[in-house]
Amino acid sequence: MSIKFSCDRGAAWQESEHGDTLGMSEIRVAEAAVMAQDCRRVMKPRFEISVLEDRNGFRSALARWFVQHGKDYPWRRTRDPHEILISEVMLHQTQIATVLGKGYYQRFLAAFPELRSLAEADDAALLKAWEGLGYYRRARMLRETARAVLENHGGVFPQDVDLLMKLPGIGRYTAGALRAFAWNIPAVLVDGNVARVLARLLDISDPVDDTAGIQRIWNHAATLADHVRPQIYHAALMELGQVVCRPGVPDCLQCPVARFCRSDEPDRLPVKQRKIPITRVDEHALWMRDDQGRLLLHHEGGKRRTGLWKLPTREAAAISHLTVLAEHRYAITRYRVTLWVHDGSTLLPRFRPSGAESWQTPSGVPALAIAAPFRRVIEQLLENS
Ligand code: SF4
Repeated sequence: MSIKFSCDRGAAWQESEHGDTLGMSEIRVAEAAVMAQDCRRVMKPRFEISVLEDRNGFRSALARWFVQHGKDYPWRRTRDPHEILISEVMLHQTQIATVLGKGYYQRFLAAFPELRSLAEADDAALLKAWEGLGYYRRARMLRETARAVLENHGGVFPQDVDLLMKLPGIGRYTAGALRAFAWNIPAVLVDGNVARVLARLLDISDPVDDTAGIQRIWNHAATLADHVRPQIYHAALMELGQVVCRPGVPDCLQCPVARFCRSDEPDRLPVKQRKIPITRVDEHALWMRDDQGRLLLHHEGGKRRTGLWKLPTREAAAISHLTVLAEHRYAITRYRVTLWVHDGSTLLPRFRPSGAESWQTPSGVPALAIAAPFRRVIEQLLENS
């Protein structure tokens, strides 16, 4: 067969001697031919047939690739909906490498191995087990889900989509993920990876993140979903988006479903309408230790980090004249925060802690659930003191 590699400056052709797939030497020949034209765009094999016309061919190609190349994640070795739900919620805002590489998933499961232990967790234990992952509302929501399954379903997750979506924190993506990965039953699910792959496969140049665009992608996802092998199909599609059909420039030469892909310029897709502006923020905190060496900490009661500990913060005007002991930058959603930690020792003689502030011994700090950016500066300053 003949496969075309195209870019913004032209195209090259390469005959394959291996049927559907190109050997590495053939890929290199074609790459060299295209690169010789000073190509700047992604190279990809020629589109042959729409996924909508050959759904089974598409599903089979995807499944074959996944069986051979799919990664061995712990949540793929279990069928326990409790364990799968924890992985899905963690991965919602956090990379797989972080969740596994830093042991968050393993630690959380060790602390709450089944529904009841999670449902009965107190705030301190729950937040400590989640510490460092951020978006702490997710941990509380997981506990709410566990409680609802125990109270309303006798401790057994329902499999029905509508019943799943009535549980706290479970939307249509998570309901689909539970159905596919825990029970291997027909499901539809779209996350960012799936939306990107589908937008490229179908060459959708309309925004995928406005109401009509979201619905369009979900409709296509429903049409293409494999109801015979849901678990493999959905895991494969998501993984394709993570490792091959990546954001930016995809690796089309390694793509198992390239011949189904309509897009000529996949690096320009998906189109997104919403551009969320980045906001820069300064946060000013106090570093104060009393005459016994105890550290002043603040126990959060607000919306964002309820139950977590941090250094007490003040308005810039009140403390920005004090010596800066540490500066730490971090990002949260659309905010880029610079945390300035000021030496509050000169305030000590007249200082009275507020209701949420208390003196904590340094030896007790490791056991407290502390917001990650504050944990870093506290450990650094305690080490230096
Ligand atoms: S699905 Fe993605 S990786 Fe595969 S050919 Fe299309 S754009 Fe390239």
